[in-house]
Amino acid sequence: MNKTTDSCPAFPGLLEEMSVDDVRAFDPEVVVLPLGSTEPHGPHLPMGTDTYQVTRLCRLAVEQANNKGGRVLLYPTLPITNTANFSKFPFALRVSIRTLMSVIVDIVTQCKEDGINKVVIVNGHGGNPATINAALREISGMDDMPFVCSTSGIVPEGFVSPIEHPSDHAGESETSRMMWIRPELVREDKLDNNPIGRLRVKTLANTHFVRPWHLYVPVSAGGETRASSAEKGQAIVEANAEGLADLLLELSQTPYGENFPYI
Ligand SMILES: [Zn+2]
Repeated sequence: MNKTTDSCPAFPGLLEEMSVDDVRAFDPEVVVLPLGSTEPHGPHLPMGTDTYQVTRLCRLAVEQANNKGGRVLLYPTLPITNTANFSKFPFALRVSIRTLMSVIVDIVTQCKEDGINKVVIVNGHGGNPATINAALREISGMDDMPFVCSTSGIVPEGFVSPIEHPSDHAGESETSRMMWIRPELVREDKLDNNPIGRLRVKTLANTHFVRPWHLYVPVSAGGETRASSAEKGQAIVEANAEGLADLLLELSQTPYGENFPYI
């Protein structure tokens, strides 16, 4: 049986579900490239947590922006990025930092070949920002490349986080988000107050160093998770999506030209 054409894709701009004719007719102005990760997230969350979260955030934001007249094209989420400091845990999937930089540069290069002048990288994994920033810096010195920026989400002014126990990894915030996004994958019987490594050299807290994750979060999740809830997760994801949608819409509607993004 033939399906009606308006049943697919789920929303305009979702590249994976568009046909080649759809994407030509859509004539995108901005590309969104989500970066996820596949890595341990404690005994209670799935390995794909970062990928699921950034995918949902981007889908919400792109749909909102395009409903308001944006022409934003959402790429598939990269599920394998960099987890060099996770190497003591099993199946923390990774490519090298240099490879990830090359992947970003290659994808942005192809965006230009496809006529795209504005690219937004949305990052869902805490191990990636230094690599993304280095790639953006390299791109900025290359001729004839699109404008590229990166974010991990933008909360609208005045948003107050409902999180009571902040954590860098698989804590109340990530657990709450997954309880909303993929509740069937959260092992609620495993919610706990998970240990966080304490520094022998306390002033190192004021510096940047790469934390060996097996020492920092020995069970691959850190902090109190028992106050997590789907309501908190929904509030965080929807707030970030709203801020991201505003950026995407403005980028989409601002003409590209010499001196972009300056006047
Ligand atoms: Zn995570």
